[in-house]
Amino acid sequence: MIVVMQQGASRTEIEEVEELLREMGFQTHPIYGVERTVIGAIGDKRDGHYEVILNIPGVERIVPILKPYKLVAREVKPETSVIHVGNVAVGGPGLVVMAGPCAVESELQLLTTARLVKQGGGNILRGGAFKPRTSPYSFQGLEEEGLKYLAQAREVTGLPFVTEVVDTRDVELVARYADILQIGARNMQNFRLLKEVGEARRPVLLKRGLAATVEEWLMAAEYVAAAGNRDVILCERGIRTYDNGLRNTLDVSAVPMVKELSHLPVIVDPSHATGNYRMVPPLALASVAAGADGLMIEVHPEPARALCDGPQSLNPERFADLMVQVSRVARAVGRAYRSPRMKVAKQGRGQTG
Ligand code: PEP
Ligand code: MN
Repeated sequence: MIVVMQQGASRTEIEEVEELLREMGFQTHPIYGVERTVIGAIGDKRDGHYEVILNIPGVERIVPILKPYKLVAREVKPETSVIHVGNVAVGGPGLVVMAGPCAVESELQLLTTARLVKQGGGNILRGGAFKPRTSPYSFQGLEEEGLKYLAQAREVTGLPFVTEVVDTRDVELVARYADILQIGARNMQNFRLLKEVGEARRPVLLKRGLAATVEEWLMAAEYVAAAGNRDVILCERGIRTYDNGLRNTLDVSAVPMVKELSHLPVIVDPSHATGNYRMVPPLALASVAAGADGLMIEVHPEPARALCDGPQSLNPERFADLMVQVSRVARAVGRAYRSPRMKVAKQGRGQTG
């Protein structure tokens, strides 16, 4: 249930309600909103609980929650959560573009890509240092060396970075370097890992599992939030369906659905959704039109030579072109985003005309 405090309820009143709820056996999660505070109470409700709680000073009302997730539910927090990563805000009016190679392959490859991503219009760099590969014989990532290159690229370009953590034993190490911890599709229901990143002081990018329902995905987000970390960004990356024409099927409908059910920001990764670079631009545009808060796009300076996911990677030129189109769609749906190339074109017109 959700205990809604009166507007202007004091800290002491809030703490007293929490104390009583805990005595009753509930886990409490206060959410301090702009207007008022609400307390998520998770546990077994018994007869008489409602009456007792309603009589505590400062309590306005109780909202029973029927959904299995509570902390991430929009009914608990009507305003969309904005997650701050460096000077980038995910979930605000601006569209966020995370881009970079599937895997960090070398210092040169990463720095080159990072510069091109920035020039093309990316505002967060992506790159895997620990790679969850289907085959044990495929390139597994540079691990800590890769994290060092990512940190170096952040120094050079100013772009914060997101990178995947695949094992509970690596959370501390990855969190020491990364701005956002990515939980990959294959680990969406690795509950120990979810709890571990829930205790880390870094925002989490939670990808949708390969065959997960939206409710299972939100329950996974609830694990992270319940462990103490409310900064969760959801990422739709395609699901398994009976159609095998592409790598996965992008569930664009998940974007407005999640927006209705949860206050968490949601971005879309059309690269892993399709596995084919030609499908990435149309689906990126469709995702922005559907209300996504951002995109995650794989970019490689030489896709044909990529150690991982080359066929779905855009080369830097295609990425920059796509960002021009993304700027137009973003504008049409009222999102702030302008690719650097658009800015140059506009300045050019201004000078000549
Ligand atoms: C990735 O983003 O590097 C990745 C492996 O994606 P997913 O977990 O969505 O397959
Ligand atoms: Mn990849």
